[in-house]
Amino acid sequence: MRIPLVVGNWKMHGRLADAKALASAVVGQTAALSGVERAVCPPFVHLSTVADCVADSDVGLGAQHCADGPIGAHTGEVAAEMLADLGVGYVILGHSERRQYDNERESGIAKRYEQALSQGLRPILCVGESLEAREAGQTDQVVGAQLTGVLDRLGDAGFGDGVIAYEPIWAIGTGLTASAEQAQAVHASIRALMAERVGDAASDLRILYGGSMKAANAEALLDQPDVDGGLIGGASLSADEFAAICAAAARG
Ligand code: PEP
Repeated sequence: MRIPLVVGNWKMHGRLADAKALASAVVGQTAALSGVERAVCPPFVHLSTVADCVADSDVGLGAQHCADGPIGAHTGEVAAEMLADLGVGYVILGHSERRQYDNERESGIAKRYEQALSQGLRPILCVGESLEAREAGQTDQVVGAQLTGVLDRLGDAGFGDGVIAYEPIWAIGTGLTASAEQAQAVHASIRALMAERVGDAASDLRILYGGSMKAANAEALLDQPDVDGGLIGGASLSADEFAAICAAAARG
C-alpha cells in the first residue's frame, strides 16, 4: 500500500514573509487531511523559518538540492548534513531546471543522492523527457537512461527509500500536462524498470507526477494506478491549490 505524497517545489519564489505566510496557510488548510503525506520545499534561505511554521504539523520539509559531498570547502553549496540538522526530510534531485541551467548529470546526481541518503534525507529523483524526445517516440528510452545512469552508480541497493518524480520537461511550467494515460504509461514503465533493479521493493516505490499539475487536473492524474502523488511547482505557490491537490491525493 503506497501512501500518496504531494510535494510543493517553491523554486526561487518569494521573500521570507511570503514563505512564512504560505507555509502557515498550507499547514492550516491541510490539517484535517489524512491518508496523504505532504511536504513543501522552500529556497534554502527560508528553510529555517518554514521549519518553525511546519514544526507541529503533518507538513514535511524538503530542500530543492544538496551538495555532492560532505561538509567542507565548497563555496555556495549546502551539505545534506546541514539540511538534516534543520529538520529537512526530503530533497529534490536532478530537477530538469538544474539539468538544463546547472549542467547536472547522472554522475553528480548519484553523488548528491548518496549524500542525502547518508544523512537520512529521502531523495526525490526527477526524470523526464523533452518534447523532441517524446515526439520521436523516445520517452521510455530517455527516462530509462536517466534512471539507470543513477542506479548504475549507486548500485541497486543504494536506491534506498528514494522517491521518483516523472516530470516531462514539456509540461513543466508550461500549462501543458501529460494526459492521465500518458502519465500512467510512463509511470508503469518506470516501475517495471525498477522491478528489474530492486525486485519487490518496486511495488512500494512512490512515483510522483510533475508538470503543471493543479487542482483542476489532479484527480484524473492521481486516479492512475501507478501515479502515487505529485511534485507541484507553480500551483504549490497557492495554499488553496496545493491543499486541493493534497485532498485529491487523499481521496484517490
Ligand atoms: C516542477 O518544476 O517540478 C513542476 C512540476 O513545475 P510546474 O508544476 O509549475 O509545472
